Amino acid sequence: MRIAVFNTKPYDRRFLTEANAAFGHDLHFLEPRLEPATAALAAGHPAVCVFVNDTVNAEVLETLAAGGTRIVALRCAGFNNVDLAAAARLGIDVVRVPAYSPHAVAEFTIGLLLAVDRRIPRAWARVRENNFALDGLIGRNLHGRTVGVIGTGKIGALVARSLRAGFGCEVLASDLYPDPALEALGVRYVERGELLRAAEIVTLHCPLTPETRHLIDAAAIEAARPGLTIVNTSRGALIDTAALIEGLKSRKVGAVALDVYEQEADLFFEDLSNEIVSDDLFQRLLTFPNVLITGHQAFLTEEALGAIAATTLRSIADAEMGKLLANRVDAGRIAASR
Ligand code: NAD
Repeated sequence: MRIAVFNTKPYDRRFLTEANAAFGHDLHFLEPRLEPATAALAAGHPAVCVFVNDTVNAEVLETLAAGGTRIVALRCAGFNNVDLAAAARLGIDVVRVPAYSPHAVAEFTIGLLLAVDRRIPRAWARVRENNFALDGLIGRNLHGRTVGVIGTGKIGALVARSLRAGFGCEVLASDLYPDPALEALGVRYVERGELLRAAEIVTLHCPLTPETRHLIDAAAIEAARPGLTIVNTSRGALIDTAALIEGLKSRKVGAVALDVYEQEADLFFEDLSNEIVSDDLFQRLLTFPNVLITGHQAFLTEEALGAIAATTLRSIADAEMGKLLANRVDAGRIAASR
């Protein structure tokens, strides 16, 4: 099928082109994001492929439908950027990649935790300047520390398992559906308030829902143990950034590692190094020596990108052959995972 691939980066081209050897689609790579001003570029393409920060609202979908598009394939899991009701009304199928590599995100989470806790980026910056002083680089052992894992689905379960069985942490967990395999390892499910009060480290792996929005807020930070380390590779809006900054300023929060940020749509995935960034909260976060931020790259492994590309192209091939679409987004379900 002829596919307009919006918002492509070099790695998208590489992995989609490689995976396409098995499908033979006609891929048309486009650099712009999909938005009202660019939607007409898809005219004549029955399939459109987009990423998490493309705009797929009713206006865009109407332009796509008028140009002959019948399927929108998200090369990510989240679909909160798509107006599903408008897509259904216009007869456009929406497919996504529900799971690609939870190991990619879980391993990155452990990497961020170790990096911020053991001051690895600061140490590396010093060594590059021939500064081999160790003052200010004291970390803590993970072994024996109490870690709270909020959300023990595909990613959180791998993180909890690694911390418990690998590092020998005391692991507390919070989830609507406790995992008996984790409990057998000694992971203890507790109510979220208890977890937030008891943990020395909290790592977030639940989806963003109205209930989980700002679950780390001023009250949670106030109730936490002094020196709390917070890791978030899930969704930025799980944390109230302004409250986090106050927690860092008061030293109640001891360290923070983030791969996601509430207002990341205006920042991440682009080179803004020559721009003036006007997000004052983000800029303030960057000033703390105990904050480590990456730009939503936890998923970025060879394995995950290969799986995303293959699943996306297979869904489009299934649509072309009139098969049932296993990864079709059901308009009745709203989720904000990625
Ligand atoms: P999943 O659906 O397998 O697991 C989510 C878990 O959270 C489930 O067990 C669910 O029961 C639980 N949950 C739901 N509401 C909860 C609540 N209120 N309190 C506690 N637990 C709750 O999802 P996953 O594949 O493990 O992904 C987890 C998150 O990771 C996603 O929501 C997504 O935002 C994020 N993610 C980030 C990246 C990245 O590159 N940074 C990549 C993929 C996924």
